[in-house]
Amino acid sequence: MPPYSSTPESIKNRKQQEKLLRPRMIKGRQSFIKFLPQDDLSGFHPVYLKHPDEFVPRRHRRGDMLEWGIVELDLSAKMSLLETIELRRKQDTWQAKCMYHGSLLPQVQFVNGLMERKKAKLAASRDPQRELCDYVLTIRLRDTETASCNSAIMWRRIKVSGATKINVFQDKILAPALGWTRNYHGYLFVDDSDGAQYGPNGGSYIDFLHFLKDCGHSYIDDHEYTIADILPLPNPKEPVFHYIYDLGDHWLHDIYVDAILPASESDGKVALLAGGGACPREDGQGFRNWNKFIKSLDAAKHAEIAGSMNYHDDPAVRRLGARWRFDPLAFDLAAARTRITDALASPASVPSGPKKSVMGGDPLRDGGPPGDSTPKGTHRTVIPNGAGFNPFGQYNNLKGSFRTEVVRDRRDKRASALCGCCGKPITKPKMCSACKIVYYCDQACQTAHWKEHKRKCGGRTASSARA
Ligand SMILES: [Zn+2]
Ligand SMILES: [Zn+2]
Repeated sequence: MPPYSSTPESIKNRKQQEKLLRPRMIKGRQSFIKFLPQDDLSGFHPVYLKHPDEFVPRRHRRGDMLEWGIVELDLSAKMSLLETIELRRKQDTWQAKCMYHGSLLPQVQFVNGLMERKKAKLAASRDPQRELCDYVLTIRLRDTETASCNSAIMWRRIKVSGATKINVFQDKILAPALGWTRNYHGYLFVDDSDGAQYGPNGGSYIDFLHFLKDCGHSYIDDHEYTIADILPLPNPKEPVFHYIYDLGDHWLHDIYVDAILPASESDGKVALLAGGGACPREDGQGFRNWNKFIKSLDAAKHAEIAGSMNYHDDPAVRRLGARWRFDPLAFDLAAARTRITDALASPASVPSGPKKSVMGGDPLRDGGPPGDSTPKGTHRTVIPNGAGFNPFGQYNNLKGSFRTEVVRDRRDKRASALCGCCGKPITKPKMCSACKIVYYCDQACQTAHWKEHKRKCGGRTASSARA
C-alpha cells in the first residue's frame, strides 16, 4: 500500500502516526501538516507549509489548472536540470521515510486538507434539482504537442443524466464512447476551476503506483459524486473539466458542458450524439509519441495497433484481419454506441482488480499472485492469448501469455446502478427476474432489452453476462 494512497487503510493508519508525528512551527505559527521528528525541511516545497484554507491554486504551463493547482517546480525560477533531479531525489527520500514509518507523506496531508475544503464546497453547492437534468458534454482529446485542436483529434458528444455517478460514467459510458479499454488503466477527472481531482476508489492500476506522486498526490473518491455535483453550469466555450486517462501516458482530454437541459426536456437516457477521430492505441506512450507514430503508418504499425488492448477485440479488426488499416480520422458511431450498450448491460468494473497482461506462465496455475484472493462477490478471469489473438500473425505472438481481470458476480450497488438498456440512473429497484443482475428503469426498457439479454441471462452469473 503506497503511503500516498487515499484508501481507507491509509486514513486508518493516521491514528497510529500521531505518536510519531509532531507539528512544526513555521515562521511563528504551527504548520497544518505534521512531520517525522528527524525531518529537516530541506527540499520541501514551501507551498505545502501553507494552511489549505489559505492556499490559492495556480495554473500550470499552457494555462491548465491541474493537480490541485499546486505548481511545485517554479518555472519562473528556471531550475537547472541538476536542481530538478536533486528535488526529485529528495522527494523520493521523503517518500521512502514515510513508507518506513507508515505515515502519510506531508504533501498528501496537505492535499487531504484541500480535499476537505473542496468537499465542504461541493456539499454547500449541491442542488438535487440538477440531477433531474440531462447534460450534453463534449469530450476532446488534447493535442498536447501544439496546444491546438485539429480534425484528427478524437472527440465525442454525449448526453447523460446529471444523476450519473462519475465512476460509472467513466466505466460504462466515457471509456467505451472514446474507445479506451474498460478497467485497464487509471484515470483522473480534474476541475479546471481549482485543480480538484477525482479518481477511482481503491484503484490498483499499475500507472497509479508509479505516477500518482507526480499527479497531485491524492484524489476525491469519484463514486461519491454525480455529474450534477461537479458540473454546476453550462460552458460550451471553455473546458470546465479535464479527463486524464492512463497516468503514465497521460492522455489529456478536455470536457465542455455544451448544455444542461431543463428537467422537462430530460429523459435521463444515455446517448452518444456525435464524434470524430479514432482512439489512440492503449500503451501508445502519450500524445507526442503517438503523433509521431501515426505520421508514417506501415504494415507493422497497423499490426501493432491491431494487437493492442483496445483494438484486438474490435469487430472490424476481427472481420478484416491482416487487411485492417488504422485510420486516425475514422470514427464508427454505430460501433461506439454498441460498446456503450454492451457496457451498460454488464456489471461495473472492479478497480482493485484491473485487466493485466501476464507474460509467460500457466494461466491456470498463475492466474494471480501467490495467495491472491479477490473481494467477496468477485472472481478472477483468465483469458489465454491463444492463436488468432493478433489477426496479423506477426505481433504479440505470445504463446503462454494471458490476460486477467477481477470481475463482479453480483449486481451493481443500487445507488450507482444504471438501466441496462438505456443508461438512465435507477430510482426503483427493478431488475431482470431471472438473473437478478441487470437493472431496468421500467418495463418498456426490460422488454426492449430482452432480445439481446436472453442470450446471456438464464440466471447465469454476472461474469458470464459481462463476457
Ligand atoms: Zn431504461
Ligand atoms: Zn437476466
